[in-house]
Amino acid sequence: MSIAFIDLAAQQARIKDKIDARIQAVLAHGAYILGPEVTELEEKLSVFSGAKHAITCANGTDALLMALMALGIEEGDAVFIPAFTFVATAEVVPFVRATPVMVDVTPDTFNIDVASLERAVEFAKSQGLRPRVVIAVDLFGLPADYPAISAIAKKHDLTIIGDSAQSFGGSIEGQRTGSFGTITTTSFFPAKPLGCYGDGGAMFTNDDALADLLRSLRFHGKGHEKYDNVRIGNNSRLDTIQAAVLLEKLAIYEEEIFLRNKVAARYSSMISQRWQKPIVPEGYGSVWAQYTLVAKNAQAREDIIAKLRGQGIPTNVYYPRPLHQQTAFDGCMTDPEALGTSERLATTVFSLPMHPYLSEADQNRIIEALA
Ligand SMILES: *Cc1c(COP(=O)(O)O)cnc(C)c1O
Repeated sequence: MSIAFIDLAAQQARIKDKIDARIQAVLAHGAYILGPEVTELEEKLSVFSGAKHAITCANGTDALLMALMALGIEEGDAVFIPAFTFVATAEVVPFVRATPVMVDVTPDTFNIDVASLERAVEFAKSQGLRPRVVIAVDLFGLPADYPAISAIAKKHDLTIIGDSAQSFGGSIEGQRTGSFGTITTTSFFPAKPLGCYGDGGAMFTNDDALADLLRSLRFHGKGHEKYDNVRIGNNSRLDTIQAAVLLEKLAIYEEEIFLRNKVAARYSSMISQRWQKPIVPEGYGSVWAQYTLVAKNAQAREDIIAKLRGQGIPTNVYYPRPLHQQTAFDGCMTDPEALGTSERLATTVFSLPMHPYLSEADQNRIIEALA
């Protein structure tokens, strides 16, 4: 019997009646764009995250792009991003004609290494760029080291964007992702911890003026009314039907975060020591978008992936190539001391099945196969 990597069907079976009713309500009122469910969702996302404003949009990539647009990032500006992340974090930077500068991550949290960030900032300055923004990614569900990143941001006058596409609901000292940066973004892609049935995303901020700007940017740069266009914007709204789905998923999300943590805790206590297991620093809360192990070397990874596959256990490699080694970013600017950890992780990490409904029996099979 094969195990699911992410079991969206189990979740759907649990709340299908409610999702069906929500979708029927949208079909009945017919407000498919920015309907009442979108407003209701934004209010609930704001309460859940603790951020003053939650502004939904079409996907997590647009959320990052509009964050850069709202901050006025332009040609000659340097935007610092970790090399070990999904490409969306980086690709939005050239979109606004700014320069992405890749920094390394730490070997245990997989998030930004602040020493590398600081070297990269000095290097960008020496190359005549203006250091403006750091996009801190909360990889695999664990918030980045925002206290340390904030200290460096303050020193160099950088604005922080939190890319919380994988970590919505993650926390530091009880404070949830949504207000660690000036703007925080997330994604509701189906496979994310909180996902809809298509593409979706959101932006969070405590700043009233930025919130107004982001609302304008997602709607063709509108002013006070629809056909008043005061800036160059975008068409990037969350469909009302997706908001309806998300409302029912958000209602059980708190419990799902608890269940994900239960699965992760069991993995961490029972998996063989031969694999490097993920850590959660004191005071941090992860939502476990992925449960990711590190093998001793590339061969050990290939061997275990093949063995698991043979037993009907799926794995995935996030990410097999760091961004500075991607064709699209050929010759991009990086921390001058190289990105050794990102490169090593790309050849050794692998992620296990992880979702709130993973049974103990299935988990035991995975744990035994790794022994
Ligand atoms: C998924 C993801 C995004 C992009 O989200 P989309 O909704 O797919 O556009 C951005 N950053 C990270 C780290 C992601 O994992």
